[in-house]
Amino acid sequence: MAENVKLPDGADENKSHPPAEAPCSEEQAEETFQLSGIPVFEGCVLGHVRLLTEGELDIPHFTIEKTQTRAEFTRLRGAINTVIRELEELLGDADDSDNVVPAEARAFIDLHCEILKDPSLISETQDIIRDRLVNAEWALSMRLEDLHSSFEDIEDDYLAERIQDISQMVERVQRVLMGRRRPCDTVSKAMSDTAVILVSEDLSPADILTLKRRGDLSVAGLLLEYGSVNSHTSILARSLEIPMMVNVSGIRERVHEDDVIFLNASESTVLVNPSEEQMPALAGMSRTRVGNSRRLRTLRSRSCTTLDGTTVELLGNIALPEDVADVVKNRADGIGLFRSEFLFMNRPDMPGEDEQTQAYESVIRAMKGKIVTIRIMDLGGDKTPTAQALESIGESLEAAVINPSMGRRGIRFCIEHPKLFKTQMRAILRASAVGNVRILIPMLSRISEVLHVRNVMTQCRRELEAEGFRVADDIPVGGMIEVPAAVFCLEHYLKVLDFASVGTNDLMQFMIAADRLEPSVAGLCHPMHPAMLRMLAEVIGKAVKAGKDISVCGQAAADPFFAQYLVGAGLRSLSVDSVGMLAVKERLTQSRLDDNRCLARNLRRCASAGDVRRVVQKYQKDHPEFEPSRFVQSVLAEDFLGLDRLSLDPL
Ligand code: PEP
Ligand code: MG
Repeated sequence: MAENVKLPDGADENKSHPPAEAPCSEEQAEETFQLSGIPVFEGCVLGHVRLLTEGELDIPHFTIEKTQTRAEFTRLRGAINTVIRELEELLGDADDSDNVVPAEARAFIDLHCEILKDPSLISETQDIIRDRLVNAEWALSMRLEDLHSSFEDIEDDYLAERIQDISQMVERVQRVLMGRRRPCDTVSKAMSDTAVILVSEDLSPADILTLKRRGDLSVAGLLLEYGSVNSHTSILARSLEIPMMVNVSGIRERVHEDDVIFLNASESTVLVNPSEEQMPALAGMSRTRVGNSRRLRTLRSRSCTTLDGTTVELLGNIALPEDVADVVKNRADGIGLFRSEFLFMNRPDMPGEDEQTQAYESVIRAMKGKIVTIRIMDLGGDKTPTAQALESIGESLEAAVINPSMGRRGIRFCIEHPKLFKTQMRAILRASAVGNVRILIPMLSRISEVLHVRNVMTQCRRELEAEGFRVADDIPVGGMIEVPAAVFCLEHYLKVLDFASVGTNDLMQFMIAADRLEPSVAGLCHPMHPAMLRMLAEVIGKAVKAGKDISVCGQAAADPFFAQYLVGAGLRSLSVDSVGMLAVKERLTQSRLDDNRCLARNLRRCASAGDVRRVVQKYQKDHPEFEPSRFVQSVLAEDFLGLDRLSLDPL
């Protein structure tokens, strides 16, 4: 079985945990097998299993005498207060720098406290105790059942998932009532200081925080049998950068305490009990990651300049204002993509003008005069506000569409929701007064959309100035080049745009006609497809010729080898997530522009996947000093662009 297990790609994640030791002796060697799941936060990590053992609670059910109801009320209130106290302790002192709680975690724990403090939780449960003469634990279960049925008809994903938060809190109160430990306290101490991969049915955000705080455990990965990528636990894992997968079916039954696991969220796989032959490569990867992150940190203060003196601008991508801290830490040259739509998601209302202004200002101030590119909300597609939020501004969620990523998305959505768009535009303009702002239009496919944005801008500017607000004089307007229509008419678009930013994630799916979220065609969707390579070189060339700034902000720019290609093709600005920024900088500073140009020329001429592979093979042979990036590894792998499924023999 072990021979069939594919070794993972060499990931360039920068987390630092000591790798797990090799499995002990031959006779103890366990069966090697692989499981799969849905990735929440990418990355790979080798560690020992720790199981969250206490699963289902067996809730006691007994009847009480009328005279005992008061005592049950007191038990109930006492247990609820205990949990509230535990949660508040978790948040700790906001000024304690050793105890920094991420903003998302704080919000989720506040939410859980609110659930517990909701007077109806106590009063309705007390009613059940009084009317049915049952114990407090059982009354809570009955209350939860009622809530479950009232949540059943809710179609909105965000609100529907809140029943999970309520269930988690009710279960915690029941544990206190029954004198049982919290699930996170059931995790036993790690054997040594090796990394721990936590395996559980589900987890609450508070559990993650408690576990992260335990000095005797170093939680390096999370594997949940159930769970969802939209849960607060998942959002928190992403903000803490913990590799995580959900829906790993059968994991709790098939793994045991202390099993060695290689969690490869980048490839959606879990390798359990790797063989002795596999261990050195896996452990090597873990060690490389530790060394890598230390080495990369030393690059923060250096400029991104090639060996032969060409400087490339390195910008950061962010989704929420909190993300700016990492961009600042890595001393990026600015923000190339602020995906503002995340401010509008996962909430029951829409952020108002003042709230948005504050959010944009906090990012602009943190960047201290460096460029901040705020992308107009790219809502629609897979990024929709909740139905309740839309209702709050008098709009309604449109009926499900067959292919939402090609539907009323990005700027199309804004045109259809003028009130919402105007509020955002006013907020961006107000925030522009405190720094250096650019506006980026998502999903541009008609030149008239640029003119529309400029008109809305002019109208908002006039209104704001009349109201006494200050607005920056010059706010460049750029377009996302992510739809083939914009590529083919780029020279015309550039006449009305101040700058352009290429969204390779969308451009690739529309260019190759392979849905970026559809696993069955995932093998076709690769930025090193010959058509993509050629198109990107043309786009860069046209922008350079027109004298307009151009950057690439899609995920492809974060691959160090692909970054070399883009720079070789003439690009001088890249925008990437903080996690990958320093690896790109390292590679570019170790490369020569003339060499990158040669690479770009060769790749641009490729007609087939086989041609691309030959160019990459030769480059790797000529440059053994460069570790193969993920793109290089996938080009060299057999199934690059589905090659192994094609019959290429002459008929
Ligand atoms: C892109 O499409 O490459 C891009 C950066 O936008 P998003 O991934 O947010 O669609
Ligand atoms: Mg896009």
